Amino acid sequence: MRKKIVAGNWKMNMNLQEGVALATELKAALAADAPACDVVICTPFIHLATVAGITEGTVIGLGAENCADKAKGAYTGEVSAEMVKSTGAQYVILGHSERRSYYGETAEILKEKVNLALANGLKVIFCIGEVKEEREAGKQNEVVAAQLAGSLYELTAEQFANIILAYEPVWAIGTGLTATSDQAEDMHAFIRGEIAKQFGAEAAENVSILYGGSCKPSNAKEIFSKPDVDGGLIGGAALKVADFKGIIDAWK
Ligand code: PEP
Repeated sequence: MRKKIVAGNWKMNMNLQEGVALATELKAALAADAPACDVVICTPFIHLATVAGITEGTVIGLGAENCADKAKGAYTGEVSAEMVKSTGAQYVILGHSERRSYYGETAEILKEKVNLALANGLKVIFCIGEVKEEREAGKQNEVVAAQLAGSLYELTAEQFANIILAYEPVWAIGTGLTATSDQAEDMHAFIRGEIAKQFGAEAAENVSILYGGSCKPSNAKEIFSKPDVDGGLIGGAALKVADFKGIIDAWK
């Protein structure tokens, strides 16, 4: 019943023209060969309004990679959830490990961002995951549980229905190291159990939990074959249509 999703995270790659070309090529590829899952691309802010004109009316959903923790006002350089929504985007990635580690985004800041994103009608792709040292110390479950509790546990079950979770072990992001499908399944099952405790069995059953971290066409089918893995959040491999489509096709 829960959705299968492949979402791309373009990060800070491609200028506007290159982004338009990539979205246009993806649109053509998916029009020729319809996906068996939901497909989302998350782009830099400046691409959103233009790419929305390409993805509108297609199977491709559109998202931002971040939004501000304030609603509006004198916050030079920030982009609000309302602004993201006004471009035509439907999603926003929040809590990516690069935002947490390079930009000091704490659980408290992320809680504000999640609240604002939901209040503005965006679906949130909320990222969680442990760093290498935490996994080596066997602390991955407690780290992920604290990330969930710190930013999401004041939501109502109704609000939580608009959250997609992405488990991204930080040691696997952009490193070429992938969690084994069993490591992914163990963590996804743990996360689903935590969600059941907090929001109830139905919410846990319905929430899509994506895996992220060096996912490629060659390993996607194996990872997606696990019962608690509902798709992927894809970084590097989302920048080439052939690779991204290869991952999307893992659901066929
Ligand atoms: C990401 O940054 O969300 C990600 C999963 O990156 P990559 O696929 O490049 O590891």
